[in-house]
Amino acid sequence: MLVTGASRGIGAAIARAAGAAGYRVGVNYLRSAAAAEAVVADIRAAGGEAVPLQADVGDPAQVERLFAELDSRLGRIDVLVNNAGILASFRVDALDHAQVAAVFRANVFSIFHCAGEAVRRMSTAHGGAGGVIVNLSSVAARLGGLAGGAAYAASKGAIDTFTLALAKEVGREGIRVAALRPGLIETEIHDVHGGLERMRTMAREAVPMGRSGTAEEVAQAALWLASAAASYVHGAVIDVAGGR
Ligand code: NDP
Repeated sequence: MLVTGASRGIGAAIARAAGAAGYRVGVNYLRSAAAAEAVVADIRAAGGEAVPLQADVGDPAQVERLFAELDSRLGRIDVLVNNAGILASFRVDALDHAQVAAVFRANVFSIFHCAGEAVRRMSTAHGGAGGVIVNLSSVAARLGGLAGGAAYAASKGAIDTFTLALAKEVGREGIRVAALRPGLIETEIHDVHGGLERMRTMAREAVPMGRSGTAEEVAQAALWLASAAASYVHGAVIDVAGGR
């Protein structure tokens, strides 16, 4: 299983859970080498197998290198989790073009680059053995995101739509595709707009369950989607959001 953006937060939790479930795990990261090494060390300490793989998944040449490294170090890819993503906060009337581009590059173009490489390996039409692709969307796709989050929310809407389109494209080629829409989850991504305490306060008010979620709770949903237990779940976009 390749998990993009697995040095921290939800990606790290998915990588750890995957290692514990017996997957050989590619732990991709952008800059946090020490954190990625720590995730790999945790997986190995628990008896699993993992390798750290540095690459900016927004860059097609780096994604090509990432998959070549994955091929040589871990062998066949069965599951791709497109998790890497960034948040930006600005009003549209104070538009920052560079930030809009950065959000779409990291959140959307990355998924095209990684899914392209994965489908070329997994698809039975290319001689592959099939597989599963899980995309990390967000409830922002249907709620419009928090104040200043238009670029982020729109990028997640694109992920939902991409999930439906890819499901049609590869469903007969042994590949299942699905997306998760997490709600307010406790990770460093919230540093962009006030940090964890502000997010927890928001969660107490806005989430029907009255609390934020953990990265591990999202990881369990991702592992289920990847597993044979979800064998007829395809083109689905599933909320993991405490009812929000
Ligand atoms: P974090 O900010 O905690 O972690 C982001 C991870 O993505 C890091 O490992 C980071 O690597 C990596 N990353 C960012 N850009 C790139 C890139 N260009 N190439 C490779 N890796 C990259 O985020 P979360 O764990 O909170 O979020 C994970 C996913 O879940 C995202 O897609 C996010 O949008 C989605 N999500 C999160 C929610 C939440 O409340 N936390 C809610 C809804 C959706 P490095 O450490 O090297 O920077």
